Amino acid sequence: MAPSYVAEARRRVGPKRNRIVPIIERLQADHPDAGIALEYRSDLELLVSVMLSAQTTDVNVNRVTERLFQKYRRPEDYLAVPLAELEDDIRPTGFFRQKAKALRGTMKILVEDYGGRVPDRMEDLLRLPGVARKTANVVVAERGEAQGIVVDTHVRRLSQRLGLTRQDEPVKIERDLIRLVPRRYWNVFPHLLIWHGRRVCIARRPRCEACVLNDLCPASRVEVSTVASHAPA
Ligand code: SF4
Repeated sequence: MAPSYVAEARRRVGPKRNRIVPIIERLQADHPDAGIALEYRSDLELLVSVMLSAQTTDVNVNRVTERLFQKYRRPEDYLAVPLAELEDDIRPTGFFRQKAKALRGTMKILVEDYGGRVPDRMEDLLRLPGVARKTANVVVAERGEAQGIVVDTHVRRLSQRLGLTRQDEPVKIERDLIRLVPRRYWNVFPHLLIWHGRRVCIARRPRCEACVLNDLCPASRVEVSTVASHAPA
């Protein structure tokens, strides 16, 4: 189990219901470029990129898919080559044997049950091998109307530090966030936390002194007397 950051949220900063929209608005101002870093041109490419992104960086996936998507344009293309060839083509993303197997299983179902198209609904996506809730949430959110909130390692850590949840399991954290975050922000909210997590609220050494949330955050390491500089005048 990944380390928990729940215990870091110790300071009194007011109810989370009052803090959530200011938190989102400040993050939007601070990270106007927050969005998915995976490069894709179709629903199929989106699905494949997200499946390949497990346990590796988006930059690495983009490097691999640049060539992969020239060769594999339709679900049938993933089924037409020997498994070893597909494994080789995705090898640099790591866990390539499991990923190749999952891709083949997924493409088979897409061809047989969905006319070669990527389905829209969460429950259909969750039927696909190698597609867990996080992957399905990313795909659905990128295609328009989010049906849940993506919880990855950054979303988990920041939600805990910001006192938005006291849970450790992603499914329970998502349940808390769904109750708290207004629906109009479900698409963008994970991207904001992911980018803030990469740039500012780093796992081992959060840069609280440079953080626009330091007066709204119960885990802030900045002295109370020096915060509140981000609140509107
Ligand atoms: S970096 Fe910001 S969000 Fe993270 S713990 Fe510090 S004040 Fe809180």
